[in-house]
Amino acid sequence: MAEKYTPQTSLIHSEYVAPDNFGALPVAIHHASTVLFPNVAAMRARNWKEKSGYTYGLHGTPTTFTLEARLAEIEGGRHCRIVPSGLAAIALVNLALLKTGDDVLLPDNVYGPNRDQAVWLERDFGITARFYDPLIGAGIADLIQDNTRLIWTEAPGSVSMEVSDVPAICSAARARGVPVAMDNTWSAGLAFRAFDHGVDIVMQALTKYQSGGSDVLMGAVITRDDELNHKMELAHMRLGFGVGMDDVYMVLRSLPSMRLRFDAHDAAARKVAAWLKQRPEISKVLHPALPDCPGHELWQRDFTGAGGLFSVIFDAKFSEAQIDRFVDGLALFKIGFSWGGAHSLCVPYRMQTMRKTWTEKGGLVRFNIGLESAEDLIADISQSLDAIHAAK
Ligand SMILES: *Cc1c(COP(=O)(O)O)cnc(C)c1O
Repeated sequence: MAEKYTPQTSLIHSEYVAPDNFGALPVAIHHASTVLFPNVAAMRARNWKEKSGYTYGLHGTPTTFTLEARLAEIEGGRHCRIVPSGLAAIALVNLALLKTGDDVLLPDNVYGPNRDQAVWLERDFGITARFYDPLIGAGIADLIQDNTRLIWTEAPGSVSMEVSDVPAICSAARARGVPVAMDNTWSAGLAFRAFDHGVDIVMQALTKYQSGGSDVLMGAVITRDDELNHKMELAHMRLGFGVGMDDVYMVLRSLPSMRLRFDAHDAAARKVAAWLKQRPEISKVLHPALPDCPGHELWQRDFTGAGGLFSVIFDAKFSEAQIDRFVDGLALFKIGFSWGGAHSLCVPYRMQTMRKTWTEKGGLVRFNIGLESAEDLIADISQSLDAIHAAK
């Protein structure tokens, strides 16, 4: 190329050929907006929907296709699309399946921003959104209308932790031909085989365990069915939900250790939860593996693990100020949203403002158990619990 063009042009047209005989374990990061075609006929022949050919960076590169294939495999699905956040994945499902005049059902303990999105769809887009008791089980049949086009499930709820009877909800939905989408983020696709329990669409916030670094925002929508996948593909293309390749690489790098991290979060969380159960300040430990948690027996029946997230209800004699003081008094637990990273986190929630119905009297605090040693975490909670008696 050297002599043929001015330096400015050569700078742009310097050739790069991907190395053929370079073997390495990491998946290569393929940055691309433009994807080149060898000729016009090839350009016309290629279809953005087919993962056998590349058309434009927004529709995927070898890097995104590799992550999508791995996520589908973990979940036991066949198709996957990644999007810029977990919330974008929720939007992808909603916009792929709902239009004006349709109805969507969501559990009352659904992830807060999913609830907010549903309320927005109702207010501005003429879709009705109704919230059901997460413990409704087969009773969901009575709520399904002729215009119901989607049922969301989430188990357990990521703050109040009720475990729904997902198989019963799925059978009732199937009988009426309504697809069920599940936010399966809590179990990372490892502790709950959603498709085997009848779910049609799995949504994941990869921001949590798949990233594991408290640094990446990303989401995924996974399906088994070709027709549903086609709808997701169309919505993905129309919404332009592309993701950055460096972020995709970070998730690819974290995935091989996800099982080990998940199991470590799980083991430590169960130790901390069991210890909290002994404390007089705590009236209930809402961990699906413990009997206090509504739907505990469904967790025993349907799940194979837990992960790091659970909540507690304080004895009603403790004021909000005392509970806030407990959270502020923790040293290892930082105050912040999200979970799945190495750091333990803790958040108090005002449940009355979040739910249609909430009957617990004591304050709720959610713990995300990170990868620290359970003994250190217990000592930290212990000192902060001791201190709240002094506070009023
Ligand atoms: C975090 C989370 C989401 C949203 O993920 P973002 O990437 O933060 O948008 C959705 N559902 C659940 C249960 C989550 O915990």
